[in-house]
Amino acid sequence: MPAVVIVGAQWGDEGKGKVVDLYTERADVVVRFAGGPNAGHTLVVGDEKIIVRLIPSGILRPRARCVMAQGMVVDPAVLLGEIDALAARGTNTSGRLFVSDRAHLILPYHVLVDGLRESAAAESRKIGTTKRGIGPCYEDKAARRGVRAADLRDMGRMLGLVERATAAWAPTIQALGGEVPSPRAIVEALAPLAARIIPIVTDTSVLLEDAVRKGQAILLEGAQGTLLDLDHGTYPFVTSSSAVAGGACVGAGIGPTRIQRVIGITKGYTTRVGAGPFPTELHDEVGERLRTAGGEFGSVTGRPRRTGWLDLPALRYAARVNGLDGLAVTKLDVLTGLSKIGVCVAYDTPNGRTGEFPIDGLEDAKPVYESLPGWAEKLPAVRALSDLPGAAREYLRFVADAVGVPIDIVSVGPRRDETIVLRDAFAS
Ligand code: GDP
Repeated sequence: MPAVVIVGAQWGDEGKGKVVDLYTERADVVVRFAGGPNAGHTLVVGDEKIIVRLIPSGILRPRARCVMAQGMVVDPAVLLGEIDALAARGTNTSGRLFVSDRAHLILPYHVLVDGLRESAAAESRKIGTTKRGIGPCYEDKAARRGVRAADLRDMGRMLGLVERATAAWAPTIQALGGEVPSPRAIVEALAPLAARIIPIVTDTSVLLEDAVRKGQAILLEGAQGTLLDLDHGTYPFVTSSSAVAGGACVGAGIGPTRIQRVIGITKGYTTRVGAGPFPTELHDEVGERLRTAGGEFGSVTGRPRRTGWLDLPALRYAARVNGLDGLAVTKLDVLTGLSKIGVCVAYDTPNGRTGEFPIDGLEDAKPVYESLPGWAEKLPAVRALSDLPGAAREYLRFVADAVGVPIDIVSVGPRRDETIVLRDAFAS
């Protein structure tokens, strides 16, 4: 059975929750390889909704083992809150949930710095972080003063690490008008959490290699999207971790030769949250219509997302840096009712016209559009490609041809069954 990587091909919010949920039905192991408690998936258990930000959404499938791999940053309190919320609703995570011994821990000073910085930044300079300490935690990792899950096993050593990190952050905290927290108080508060987390701390790279040897189906789930990737995104308006497929190998401790398929998720249009360049953004009533019909508002903040037409140079870029084998196109239903659908096919730049995504100099790039016919039919009941309106089929064909990647899945509504599956990702 293959290892399949799923990544966002745009600026995040592509509908990964739904697509990952579809695939986890077949997976023996579901792995999150990057990011922290920012990407929320809404899980529906009976009549109740639970938001998981750290635990892979596969936790609701009783046969799936779920791994928070070492590319992630984990807030111990958030993790235990999620475990308790799941337990309260009858989902037992014990024996099925693992956190890498090398995953870095988000501690109170990370959250503090994140909040202080975002409040201090001028409106125009806000990166739009979720203020959960993710960025500062990755900074500590790169500065080689981070605290890892394995350190929970030794609270004496932990105190030394926390003292070193708080001393390093103290000038920043003070300059931003904050109060430096006491390392001892942090470690005392952490001790009872540590006792509960230690049993699930594992060398998850060994766990994955074992699963590979047994021929199990492994799903590696990215956070955010390609254009928010630290290396390949629209820097500096990016996240602090790896959101591309290569990040699955680095972040999960699995070799590239083990990956058999990479699927990129894209909406039928584009959205972006927060600041940063977005060439195909629409400021007109069509943009407003996409926002309303697509429910494009932040799931936590309620903040309206920026909306625009599909950007094919950007998608081709995502196909290249991820090595995409298949596309999952979501929210096609949201385009229903538009008489014409714009698609960016190239850019006019100061150096001439290009079909490449000008990741540097994006601010000066002017999209070149083609206009495709729209359709009026509602789509959520459609289950086969042949039952889609001709214009919708044509739109999908245009996108697949232009990107040079076949479409595996078309999502025509938020529900699990509102999906057209064209290819089984786990088929060998
Ligand atoms: P993620 O951040 O990429 O994981 O995106 P989510 O999984 O949170 O998806 C964003 C929202 O889009 C959720 O409210 C989904 O229910 C919704 N959604 C996903 N696919 C579709 C679709 O095909 N059509 C519509 N109308 N909504 C969808």
